Amino acid sequence: MLEIQNLHVRVADKEIIKGIDLTINSGELHAIMGRNGSGKSTLAHVIAGKEGYEIEGDVLYKGESILEMSPDERAIAGIFMSFQYPVVIPGVNNTYFLKAALNAKRKANGQDELDAMDFREKIQLVGMDESYLNRAVNDGFSGGEKKRNEILQLLTLEPQFAILDETDSGLDIDALKVIANGVNQFRSEDRGILAITHYQRLLDYMKPDVVHAMIDGQIVKTGDIELAKELEEKGYSWLVN
Ligand code: ADP
Ligand code: MG
Repeated sequence: MLEIQNLHVRVADKEIIKGIDLTINSGELHAIMGRNGSGKSTLAHVIAGKEGYEIEGDVLYKGESILEMSPDERAIAGIFMSFQYPVVIPGVNNTYFLKAALNAKRKANGQDELDAMDFREKIQLVGMDESYLNRAVNDGFSGGEKKRNEILQLLTLEPQFAILDETDSGLDIDALKVIANGVNQFRSEDRGILAITHYQRLLDYMKPDVVHAMIDGQIVKTGDIELAKELEEKGYSWLVN
């Protein structure tokens, strides 16, 4: 589903990603763990199509390079990213936003646009009150509410490949379980997920198939959930040579 080939990323004359290879197959959930500043969000942004990076290597989605595609083209093709720092959009109603995003995707894929959409089931899945649908996107939302709203977008847009950038940050343990449950509902054999996280805690609820440790722009170790536990216990310094 996603294949990253010898990826190097520079920004402002600084190399941030220093040669990453990563293959995520359909049905798999990969977790990337790493210290602050190791380049995790940069990797996520490059996959989603954020501009302003100097890129070498390639990113393939379903076998084709996506580097020349705009973020919206990638979204229509089925790529989704949940932001580490969700954007507030004052004046844009949350329901309107979700409907416009989904209909844009449906239209581009030759499906009928929907007039009415029922978000009640999905909003319950992320543990939010329906009143949040009538507020402006993320406006005045707490950190945890913004993260829930990102997962509501995920469940609404039903992408095939989702990047979750620190979706667990700022969540208490109950919220964490709710979010993990939402993501687990989304998981299926024809979808792939890349979850970026600092903490093993989230991975207890969203069992990853593969765990990668990232240091200074490189994946230095790959393993399973045991690696996540080891990183939580021992930190990252034992991996630095
Ligand atoms: P992580 O998500 O792992 O905490 P980031 O990908 O956000 O790391 O950042 C990696 C490094 O790249 C940091 O040192 C950060 O300051 C730097 N960086 C990211 N974006 C830019 C930018 N636009 N200009 C300059 N430096 C940047
Ligand atoms: Mg980050």
